[in-house]
Amino acid sequence: MSDDRVVVALDVGGTGMKCALVRPDGVVVSTERHPTDAARGPAAVVGTILDVAGGLAEKARADGLTPIAVGIAVPGVVDEARGVAVWSANVGFRDVPLRDLTVQRLGLPTALGHDVRVGGLAEARLGAGRGTGHVLFVAIGTGIAAAHVVDGTAAVGAHGAAGEIGHILVRPDGPRCGCGRPGCLEAVASASAIGRRYAELAGDTADTQVTAAEVADRAAAGEPLAGQVWQEAVEALADGLASGQALFDVATIVLGGGLAQAGERLLTPLRAALHERMTFHREPQLVAAALGDEAGCLGAALLALDAVGVRDHQEKR
Ligand SMILES: [Zn+2]
Repeated sequence: MSDDRVVVALDVGGTGMKCALVRPDGVVVSTERHPTDAARGPAAVVGTILDVAGGLAEKARADGLTPIAVGIAVPGVVDEARGVAVWSANVGFRDVPLRDLTVQRLGLPTALGHDVRVGGLAEARLGAGRGTGHVLFVAIGTGIAAAHVVDGTAAVGAHGAAGEIGHILVRPDGPRCGCGRPGCLEAVASASAIGRRYAELAGDTADTQVTAAEVADRAAAGEPLAGQVWQEAVEALADGLASGQALFDVATIVLGGGLAQAGERLLTPLRAALHERMTFHREPQLVAAALGDEAGCLGAALLALDAVGVRDHQEKR
């Protein structure tokens, strides 16, 4: 039986939107990228989202396909049940009823999701966590956030804020977090925190902008200061992941975001540090994300498929 159904998927970030038409079997048939240009204000961004989604639905029809639903992922605090983008620092959303606006404009069932949660959904169902059932996806970039996925569904929380593992307290006397409290995991071990820490310890001799990737490179090349900073971050991450494992007892922890691109430079010491912290808990597999920056868009597609009760991809393979 030929299946001409597709969903329209958008992953809206602070700088760009990744967009795609995706078939029920998870195959991407068309992709587009557009600038978010958040400086225009939230109303203009919403206008672009609706235009892009509408354009993709039209493109699908022009290609002989049938768009059946829309999935949109956004950052910040997202009320998935009401379909409202509650708050986002990057995009400027404040209580935007994005789901209803999309339904009105396109006349298609629409699901709204949180970018990290849908990224976790995609990694758990189509990517590095596939087939393992209980997955904790942790995205480490400028911040740190997680998604706990059980049997293909990501926990949202009572207030749309589940998975904020970046704000687990790991160093009570540590640097102040963007949330206002000192010592949160993301204030110590996010990619931006690692770069800041290196510059701070290197003092006058440092390049002013050292990225976490450069710290990883220098650590691997044997530079003691970089090695120290990298190990501090690894220890803090292990503390945070050990808390995650105590809470969720997952089979697999999938690391995504920019820092995960350090690959085994991160995973090997982190596995060892996590192993040291396991007492009676079962140790999870620790793996790098497999879908790269397409995870959010694929996850938005999965959310759309779930919204219309279509799930004939990965689980059957
Ligand atoms: Zn915090």
